[in-house]
Amino acid sequence: MENYEQFLEKVEDALTLADKKKDLNIFLSLEEEKIRSSAKKIADEMKTGNAGILAGKTVAIKDAIITKGTITTSGSQILKDFVPPYDATVVERLISNGALLFGKTNMDEFAMGSSNENSSFGPVKNPVNPEYVPGGSSGGSASAVAAGIVDMALGSDTGGSIRLPAAFCGVVGMKPTYGRVSRYGLIAFASSLDQIGPIAGNVSDAALLLKAIAGHDESDSTSSTAEVPDYPNLLESDVKGLKIGLPKEYYGEGCDKEILDRVNDLIESLRSKGAELIEVSLPHTEYSIATYYIIATAEASSNLERYDGMRYGFRGEGSELSEVYSSSRSKGFGEEVKRRIMLGTYVLSAGYYDAYYKKAQQARRLIRDDFLTAFKEVDLILAPTSPTTAFKFGDKMDDPLAMYLVDVYTTSLNLAGLPGISVPVGNSSEGLPIGVQLIGKPFEETELLQAAARVEELVSS
Ligand code: GLN
Repeated sequence: MENYEQFLEKVEDALTLADKKKDLNIFLSLEEEKIRSSAKKIADEMKTGNAGILAGKTVAIKDAIITKGTITTSGSQILKDFVPPYDATVVERLISNGALLFGKTNMDEFAMGSSNENSSFGPVKNPVNPEYVPGGSSGGSASAVAAGIVDMALGSDTGGSIRLPAAFCGVVGMKPTYGRVSRYGLIAFASSLDQIGPIAGNVSDAALLLKAIAGHDESDSTSSTAEVPDYPNLLESDVKGLKIGLPKEYYGEGCDKEILDRVNDLIESLRSKGAELIEVSLPHTEYSIATYYIIATAEASSNLERYDGMRYGFRGEGSELSEVYSSSRSKGFGEEVKRRIMLGTYVLSAGYYDAYYKKAQQARRLIRDDFLTAFKEVDLILAPTSPTTAFKFGDKMDDPLAMYLVDVYTTSLNLAGLPGISVPVGNSSEGLPIGVQLIGKPFEETELLQAAARVEELVSS
């Protein structure tokens, strides 16, 4: 059978599987007819040999990324009817590279959360075991890949939202360096931390997807002009002589023993292949959660100001403008989003700005400096992605601080602007996936993907 025929069959199978797994609540929209007609168009291009590098691949898109003509909600009731008039740059790039866009995925409202329980459309269930959360906020994207419905998915990561669900669902997820991928058309949560990245079933697909979406974009002045390497064709490397840093702050109390055991097994295999494992210190790690939740909420309170009931989506009742604003925002936003707006407004307010926001900016600098100092000694850093495996629904919902602590190993990369990738390293005794995180120097995605490919080989051997 020809390639394109196989592709059309694969698309039909994926639609059937998505329907069969409806209860997992992965997709917020799945336009079957549009998917079929795009698939035919791509198949025609495959026939004539004009297809792009992603031809034959199905890609799900987190609903925080806008898609022309397809409802985009960012997981919020306030945007439940919002139909964007244009495509995000990453979406344009997927289409021009021949990808088949396969549905918009469920997520925590405005990407605020670690479990998907903050979605205003009900949470996604973890395909590995539906009694457990898939992680957040890109839980729908990670689950779409883990359930075998799509080859790849786009997520966004502000404090761990690609890496955490990838770890919880047993797939690969990468947050690129800040500026590597255009944010134009990503519904903003915290603009100095947000970054779009790939989620995939293996490192090679993640590299392919990154290649397609990375690179400068005139519409995003923070996107880098650095050339985009040919990631998928640069995956060969040797572990021998590779200097891998193990930050002692990431291996202490607070991390599940089973996770540490798996990561330590991997460390031993890397050592036996000739890698040099070196203990490093990132002394300001203990400030990362507090720093992140001040900066992220401050930026969110400003970014979310635009949802006033006038310009987009849901409009509340009221006889005066201020009443409409207030009822639109009170009813349109969920609890966690309101909590973050309150926190963010507080830390930016006159009288508290110096004590919180300014201090957080100073701590952010120290956190970045820690990494840059460590990178003078090592090529990359290896640590668990998360201190726990997936937890059960409801376990942490009454305690926002416990939920925030799930991000303890992921937020500092966003604060420092560094790339990180989570790769599966096996399962817990309960059968829940465990992820290991590799952290790289700015714009060294190639080296990071190479190391991730070696980890993948070692784990499957
Ligand atoms: N869990 C973190 C938060 O709730 C990170 C979310 C993200 O990366 N979008 O803010």
